[in-house]
Formats: sequence, structure tokens, C-alpha cells
Amino acid sequence: MSHQHFCHVAGHYWECEGKALRGGDAEPSVCVCLPCGRPLEGFDHSGCDDPVELLACPEHMEEERQHVEEVRKEIDRHRGEFQLDEKLARLKSLAEGPEKDALSKDVADWLFRRLQR
Ligand SMILES: [Zn+2]
Ligand SMILES: [Zn+2]
Ligand SMILES: [Zn+2]
Repeated sequence: MSHQHFCHVAGHYWECEGKALRGGDAEPSVCVCLPCGRPLEGFDHSGCDDPVELLACPEHMEEERQHVEEVRKEIDRHRGEFQLDEKLARLKSLAEGPEKDALSKDVADWLFRRLQR
């Protein structure tokens, strides 16, 4: 028995034997059915809604990892320009009020824009 995952990196289905590497893990972990929470192998999931998990296949896993790494580096770079750490520190020390609201919106917008790239 095997099951399928959908590789979102390249957009295709792939066959899995029961264990797969998940984002950032060093060891493969057992695939579980999202709707029922039992391992995908060895149980009948014909009654489960949509047990297909989005997961980069072994071939594209490295691509995905590199992409995540690039995004992280870019965030680090922009962090300095934006002075995120200073702003977060100021946010902590500010009392509730319009100034704090404006600043937290500023930071949230910035984080949101970073995640979109
Ligand atoms: Zn699997
Ligand atoms: Zn299931
Ligand atoms: Zn793939």
C-alpha cells in the first residue's frame, strides 16, 4: 500500500510509502491522515475527506528548502533596513494608544509584505 501527496513546488502528485520528510525535519516522519489523525498506511481512509497532504516530493524538497532559506536571508537583510528590532523594542515600551497602534500596524504591514515575496 502507498498513498499520494500533492507536491506544491512543481504541482504534481507523487506516491509515498508511509514516511516523508517534512519542512525542516532531519528524519522522515509517519504520514497521518489529516481528517482522522491515524497513520495513512495500515488503515482504511476511504471514508475520510481529502486525506491528500500538500508536501514537497523528495525531488523538489531541496528546491523548497533553498527557497525558504533565500526568503529567510532576505528577511534578515530587510530587517536591518527597516530597524525591526528597534521598532519591536519600542512597541514593547509604549503604552496602549494611537502611537502604539500605528507602530504595530507598520510592523504588521512590513511582515506581511515580506511573507508575500
Ligand atoms: Zn506520505
Ligand atoms: Zn483517515
Ligand atoms: Zn515535486
